[in-house]
Amino acid sequence: MALLSIENVCVSYDKVEAVHNVSLSIEAGQIVTVIGTNGAGKTTLMMAIIGLLKSKGRMEYLGQDLARLDVESRVGQGLCLVPEKRELFHDMSVYDNLILGSYSREDRSQVPQDLEGVFERFPRLKERRSQMAGTLSGGERQMLALGRALMSRPKLLMLDEPSLGLAPLIVREIFRTIASLRETGVSILLGEQNARAALETADYGYVIETGEIVQSGPANTLIHDEKLIAAYLGGH
Ligand code: ATP
Repeated sequence: MALLSIENVCVSYDKVEAVHNVSLSIEAGQIVTVIGTNGAGKTTLMMAIIGLLKSKGRMEYLGQDLARLDVESRVGQGLCLVPEKRELFHDMSVYDNLILGSYSREDRSQVPQDLEGVFERFPRLKERRSQMAGTLSGGERQMLALGRALMSRPKLLMLDEPSLGLAPLIVREIFRTIASLRETGVSILLGEQNARAALETADYGYVIETGEIVQSGPANTLIHDEKLIAAYLGGH
């Protein structure tokens, strides 16, 4: 059984349909990428999955019909979205931002242990644990956004363009980290403009254009599609 399976999903803003008949699935432990340019519909799709936008079609998560769950229940059951803008609490420290990430959890006994896990994964956050989030560099903010998401112990982590606006070296570091999250058992849905980086990290890929899936396949096949790689170089 897939962890998340969506079928013929459509999402509209007023009368304009931004996502049209999208079907995709993610198995437990998989990294799946949705590749698309600005405005293709990646954010809209993720917002619908988390429940912040209404959608038509069928979405199943952990064998349940997602339509029956409100946003809070979806988050409580391990769905987590890291938005493109990496919205952090700027006037709060790195440490406080991380702790806030754990607030959706009912069982708090393992929060200190998970915090140590995040600091091991991101030593730079550990060094800066007392620094205000608003003073971090772009790469550090992305790390904090990822770390904060991990503090919620997600089952399915949706990352909206984690490479956006970051220097190539930092992008590599972020993608290495994303790949390393496999060992924690978390599944990942990765929205990206940068096809090469995304496909090097993912197991399976979908290409979305003006709200529709136009191509899909195993990442290690898509990565050899030179036209695709040339068309989606990322916004850097
Ligand atoms: P980006 O990388 O630029 O965020 P994206 O692939 O995430 O692109 P979306 O943000 O999902 O794309 O946008 C899909 C389409 O929906 C675009 O045509 C966009 O203009 C439109 N759209 C997005 N948000 C709204 C909104 N709040 N109201 C109306 N139209 C919207």
